[in-house]
Amino acid sequence: MATTAQPLPLTFHLFHRSIRGQLLEWFRQQGKEFPWRKLKREEGATVIVDPYVVLVSEVMLQQTQAARVAARLPEFLGQFPSLGSLAAASTATLLRAWQGMGYNRRALRLQGAARAIMEDHAGVFPSDATQLRALPGLGEYTVRAIQCFAFGMDVPVVDVNIQRVLSRLFFRCHWPRAVMPPATVMAVAAAMLPAGEGFRWNQALMDLGSTICTARKPNCSGCPLHSDCASAEIPQLTLFHPDDVRTPEPTLCGIPQRFWRGKMVEALRHAEGGVPAHRLVDDAAKLLGYQKKMKLNEEREGLNILAALLQEGLATRIGVQEGELREGDVVMLPR
Ligand code: SF4
Repeated sequence: MATTAQPLPLTFHLFHRSIRGQLLEWFRQQGKEFPWRKLKREEGATVIVDPYVVLVSEVMLQQTQAARVAARLPEFLGQFPSLGSLAAASTATLLRAWQGMGYNRRALRLQGAARAIMEDHAGVFPSDATQLRALPGLGEYTVRAIQCFAFGMDVPVVDVNIQRVLSRLFFRCHWPRAVMPPATVMAVAAAMLPAGEGFRWNQALMDLGSTICTARKPNCSGCPLHSDCASAEIPQLTLFHPDDVRTPEPTLCGIPQRFWRGKMVEALRHAEGGVPAHRLVDDAAKLLGYQKKMKLNEEREGLNILAALLQEGLATRIGVQEGELREGDVVMLPR
């Protein structure tokens, strides 16, 4: 991906050296010690982590808070210590191990990538960007994270935190969600990378974005980059902006459908021999604390949510392969 064609802002030329030095120093003193960072080793000046650990932790971190991932990762790696063990596990075993993490489809994507590496690369983790992008379920961010954190490559890694921090540092941002276009941010991110320090630099940006330069309440007065930042102390940064209005998500009985999905999978974890579809909808309602009797159209909608889980591979029907899901069909976790 070409990143050099974008012109860099004047603020970059004025402040990049000072920002780089101050942020790396701040990270040396105040960087967080997450389990996935503790597993790092140094090869010469290069810091790296086992690519399998990077893959698992990055997939977990996509939609789960770092503190929860930190609590769950050691146990997960204990149960699946290698790519091979993850690839060979039954989907039911994996989904049970994923309990409490949410967004269960990530577990399937993780296992899909592990299986592809075992089958297409003889179990050897690729470092090449094209080969990584070809693995199922890996987006551009994860590809770059693996290259940087597992193979010590100096590549820019841009997640939402880093996009926000770099936008605020070098462009005057007037409201919380204001960010520069991805190509502009990527050009700045690439130009900011200190040679041989990609691991520390990208982690430092992430830490600043998650602790000080947060989305809603940036702590500018406590920020090590305050004196060089283009957006420091802009009062509007903490105010509401019309762009912040979120699109309402689909609900059932007033509860977001993603919660129903999660509770259905949770109920399946405890239904070893399978459970009729209509009972699973009831079990999910109980887990959600929904106490009213569901109307017919609501039950039908519940079955539709379950049907989507079947289609995505998060559940399976016993003895029935095709056709519309019926309320008496017995469902369970995929084997
Ligand atoms: S000074 Fe404020 S806006 Fe700038 S990087 Fe620090 S926290 Fe973010």
